[in-house]
Amino acid sequence: MTFLLQFSRRGDIFIFAPTMSSHNRARIQPGWIRKLISRSNVASLLATRLPSLYYYYTRKDKQLFPSRIRSVDLSSFIDPSSHPNLNVIIITVDSLRNANLSCTGYFRQTTPFLDSMNVRFKAISASPWTYPSVASLLTGLYPHNHGALLHGLVKNIGTDLDSYAPLRSHVVSLPEILHVLGYRIHFHTAIEMAYLPLRSRVIAHQYSPIEPAETLSRSLKRCIQRGDERQFVYLHLADLHSPLKIWHGTILKIPNDYKEFFGRDENWQTMYDNALRYVDAAIERLFDYLSDSRLLDRTVVVITGDHGEELGEHAELESAHFYDPRGSYGSGHGHNVFREIIEVPLIFAGAVPAKVTDSLVSTVDVVPTVLDLIQVSHRFHFDGRSVFANTDPKELRPLLCEACGYGYEKKALVVGHHKLIYSKEDGIEWVFNLNKDPLERCPITDPQVTSPLLDMLQLILREDERRRIREAIRRTTV
Ligand SMILES: [Zn+2]
Repeated sequence: MTFLLQFSRRGDIFIFAPTMSSHNRARIQPGWIRKLISRSNVASLLATRLPSLYYYYTRKDKQLFPSRIRSVDLSSFIDPSSHPNLNVIIITVDSLRNANLSCTGYFRQTTPFLDSMNVRFKAISASPWTYPSVASLLTGLYPHNHGALLHGLVKNIGTDLDSYAPLRSHVVSLPEILHVLGYRIHFHTAIEMAYLPLRSRVIAHQYSPIEPAETLSRSLKRCIQRGDERQFVYLHLADLHSPLKIWHGTILKIPNDYKEFFGRDENWQTMYDNALRYVDAAIERLFDYLSDSRLLDRTVVVITGDHGEELGEHAELESAHFYDPRGSYGSGHGHNVFREIIEVPLIFAGAVPAKVTDSLVSTVDVVPTVLDLIQVSHRFHFDGRSVFANTDPKELRPLLCEACGYGYEKKALVVGHHKLIYSKEDGIEWVFNLNKDPLERCPITDPQVTSPLLDMLQLILREDERRRIREAIRRTTV
């Protein structure tokens, strides 16, 4: 049996065999290789690029994908009169906090290019970490409906790799739908976790660990300019994902132009903002290319984050009230559902109509919106809906975030200016009044306030379970 070595940018080594599922692997950390990687640029580049190429070309997905497409009769869900002629690009910036975009009133000019986009929403991510969140982004379903989440009472990402449940077999993804519609599919990620839920749903993908935004942008240019074929490109950027030090450390360097926020206080927030400024500039250059090549008018571009990132905001509340098996609080993502972890921007550009609104949306809206923009009529069920659909501006639409990666399960339900955070095992039933308490500092525990939102959450989960059972019965009796 051939074993495959994969090197992460931290110097961890993942070992797995082609016959094993990609996440069913062992992790070892030999000290001498970590030191070699951290001390030598050449060694680190060789260590990361070569396994990546091998990994890409030895995937079994080229065999899995056609049988998957045969087993789900997608074309019967699509109106045969649908003939989309627009390219689709989705750029997901991992760990992209909405609050750090300068257009939201942030004190640094982090995102002058993204600020210039006219069709921009604040969105609630469907999950606070990558695996379930990307699955939601590309299926239009919440994690409890698509099924790609961690099993078990106490979650701890990466320690029990068998606990990663796959997407339910009947759930279809945007790459599959677009493949059936004749699109050429490209999936390029700098974070492997983004691809794992899509295994066998994409005919091939490219994984480029530690590669910066500009390198992934170059691959997008190569994909999008291929003849007259319609292209779907998914890019998942890792520049904002911790550890951020890597970007101005020995392996890769942010150009000096993007160190404008560095001063004496090279703290986490400063590093994050520099990386964000760099990503903004890389996306701007990509748009320059699309515009110069006259591709922008023929392309729907989506820019969003799979989740945000906590930079210490709720450390005290978390350590006092929530269990985390790592024993660390207040940083990163996956562990809780406070605003900095689940609020992301959702931007549409290219061949899209103008839309100015301050309504709150969800990342489960991406798939139905894309199908709406490329004018595909269908009978698929999505939890999301097109953000361009005409809706009642006074409507109080409940938006959900769930499927945590650390500790006990926590769910957030945002309805108007109220937000519920619920964790049964932590004993938490909190509501925040977002008008009076936008930073979510003062939880309301009065049952008169919490009960209606908790009832609404339970009703949504119950109704969805009933619908899933009805659909399963229908599939087995057809
Ligand atoms: Zn992520």
